[in-house]
Amino acid sequence: MINKIYKIKGMHCASCAGIIERTFKKAEGVSSAEVNYGTETTKVVFDETKTSPEKLSKKIEHLGYSLITETAESMGMSEDEHRAHMGIGQSKNEKLEELKDMKKKLISAIPLALVSILVMAWDILSLYKIVPMMSDTLKQLFSHLLPLMATYTLFVVGKPYLLGLYRFLRYGKANMDTLIGLGTVSAFFYSFVIFSFAKSLSAFLNVDATYFDVTIVVITFITLGKYLEARSKIKTGDAIEKLLNLGAKTALVVRAGSEVEIPIDQVIHGDLIIVKPGAKIPVDGVIVEGSSYVDESMITGESMAVEKKIYDSVVSGTMNTNGTFTFKATKVGSETLLSQIIKMVEEAQGSKAPIQALADRISAVFVPIVLIIAFVALVAWLLLGTGTLGFAKALSFGLVSFVSVLVIACPCALGLATPTAIIVGVGKGAKEGILIKDAATLEKLHKVDTVIVDKTGTITKGKPTLVDIENASKFSDVEFISIIASLENKSEHPIARAIIDYVKEKNIAIGVVLNFRNVEGYGIRGMIGGVEYFIGNVKLIEELKLNFDRTKIEKYTAEGKTPIILATEHEVLGFVMVADEVKTESKQAIYDLHKLGIKVMMITGDDEKTAKYIAELVGIDEVVAHVLPKDKLEKIKELQSKGRVVGMAGDGVNDAPALAQADVGIAMGTGTDVAIESAGITLLHGDISKLVKAIRLSKMTMRGIKQNLFWAFFYNIVGIPLASGLFFPIFGWLLNPVFAGFAMAMSSVSVVSNSLRIKVKKL
Ligand code: ADP
Ligand code: MG
Repeated sequence: MINKIYKIKGMHCASCAGIIERTFKKAEGVSSAEVNYGTETTKVVFDETKTSPEKLSKKIEHLGYSLITETAESMGMSEDEHRAHMGIGQSKNEKLEELKDMKKKLISAIPLALVSILVMAWDILSLYKIVPMMSDTLKQLFSHLLPLMATYTLFVVGKPYLLGLYRFLRYGKANMDTLIGLGTVSAFFYSFVIFSFAKSLSAFLNVDATYFDVTIVVITFITLGKYLEARSKIKTGDAIEKLLNLGAKTALVVRAGSEVEIPIDQVIHGDLIIVKPGAKIPVDGVIVEGSSYVDESMITGESMAVEKKIYDSVVSGTMNTNGTFTFKATKVGSETLLSQIIKMVEEAQGSKAPIQALADRISAVFVPIVLIIAFVALVAWLLLGTGTLGFAKALSFGLVSFVSVLVIACPCALGLATPTAIIVGVGKGAKEGILIKDAATLEKLHKVDTVIVDKTGTITKGKPTLVDIENASKFSDVEFISIIASLENKSEHPIARAIIDYVKEKNIAIGVVLNFRNVEGYGIRGMIGGVEYFIGNVKLIEELKLNFDRTKIEKYTAEGKTPIILATEHEVLGFVMVADEVKTESKQAIYDLHKLGIKVMMITGDDEKTAKYIAELVGIDEVVAHVLPKDKLEKIKELQSKGRVVGMAGDGVNDAPALAQADVGIAMGTGTDVAIESAGITLLHGDISKLVKAIRLSKMTMRGIKQNLFWAFFYNIVGIPLASGLFFPIFGWLLNPVFAGFAMAMSSVSVVSNSLRIKVKKL
């Protein structure tokens, strides 16, 4: 089984997505298929021994679509190649080509439509004696000109709709093009017959009323609508383009002792890359020489340039400021953070939000239902209208209804409502350093009512420093610290960094440690010079059943400091205190979360007093301290069983199980090394104010989707009865197909524009 995303060519509307999806699902060897109209892609899971992308493409080609099946090996230099490599989305260039084509046709159609509207308006105005009657010569001229104009419009500009009708007649597959095709062709042929056989038909039919103008104006409006829609749709996806443009095209590497500039796709692991002031960092790696400040705002959203020294990591797409440095390439091509971000954003933009399911189900049955309604309207006019209006009038009214219903009821807006908003929402997030895994996560996030945060690194800076030493042992202070540092040197905990920084600054030597082990949730242990040492929190000491006067550390923990106690199997040797500063944004962020009606809890493995102090400082509602990592999971389950929707913010590495258990897992990245896969949301520059933004973004996007769906339904609910002539007997209202065309075009345009509004709104 393989699971791949392919781009699709030839999609015109939401019902196309349904047709392709159903065709693929029925195909042999395919276990699931999902087609997204917003991104024009399909995600298929298939058995490669039974089918292939080529075979799948064959299955839809006669319907006017095809799969783009090629994939390139490495991350290319151009956007097109890159997209081909990712196998996702139609490239902007292709879309621009299509757009140009549409524009050409449109430019030829608009003057014809204007003339038709002018003639129509003149007719109506002269009826009310507002303008003089058209002279007979002019009438004659237009009555011969309109058929010619309509022929051109229908067969040249309206070709996609004719094809839609053809596919319907030939294969029985109806999409929105079919509706438009059937409507305009009916209007055209009715008019054509009247025009050609006016004399012999005048006894039965109203030969004064032809509908060439309807054909012309409807096709022009629909094409205009499609053009505007396509143009805005390109704009919805431009976040990706901006990300792609971040990548450097070349890299300055050291090869055989000299500096050479090579294309980015030739950079390999281990290459030494020189970065000059003002240059882009081409791939991911670790600095081996020099230092500088790097602007990472384009990736993390962090506006301050970050200091980079030897051993620090750098990521592609970021910008060097003043210094020069050399780094070793550790991740190239599709492995780089930038590539992964792009891939994730594209996948998320192409994924389906649960809220879309309803719209999908409706548009699947929409087209056949509309066809039925249109025919029913026509027949009803003939049956019920002939008696009162006479056959000629009933037929022409019936035809008007038939065409109007077909034209107004296109499910296009319905299909665009959700995906366009998701595309814009996900893209806007990426720009802020908020990576969203899929549409379902974005949808879920707006329902979160409880947020659980980690203390270290989320509320505090995660860079503790050593602030106090209480040595109660026979060792000198230097020896005492050296023992602690020797062990901490092997630990990954942020606390360890505080100790190491301290001994480096004071030039204190560290010793050799044997049998080093982590004691999960408590601390660490290891042997130095044949003696086993334990380092950790109060619970560790309790576990060892040693005598220890807790009150000694309480003076410190009450100030928010974290104790690190050194002990042997037999006695406590003393402790040091580390303090971690609260992030400046934390307090405001908690305040903002409260304003959004969200309860904030802090879960930490740290000391209770320490945690409470910090929590109070920033206004957190509830603290659970001394928690083992596995208990975090239990706490989340407990909250969920009480009906709470829980968002868990933590570091993606340690807290992975808890992140997975939460309704929405939010990984706090530190900018350069990010566990993108582990969470639904990744905040690249991990502070909790970003989380506030992410929730606001989710609410904004969902509001946009709901508005879109409302309007899409509203158009149809009002439009269809009006168009079918239901209100004629009561108010004498009958919708001119020309207005139907206008309404239809505007519904799609308004939905896409509404989604685009999300882009400019403040988070
Ligand atoms: P948290 O990430 O919330 O700190 P952990 O389970 O990682 O949770 O750690 C729990 C507690 O164990 C820490 O708060 C600290 O008191 C102690 N601890 C863990 N690792 C170390 C270490 N390397 N040195 C000293 N204490 C440690
Ligand atoms: Mg931890």
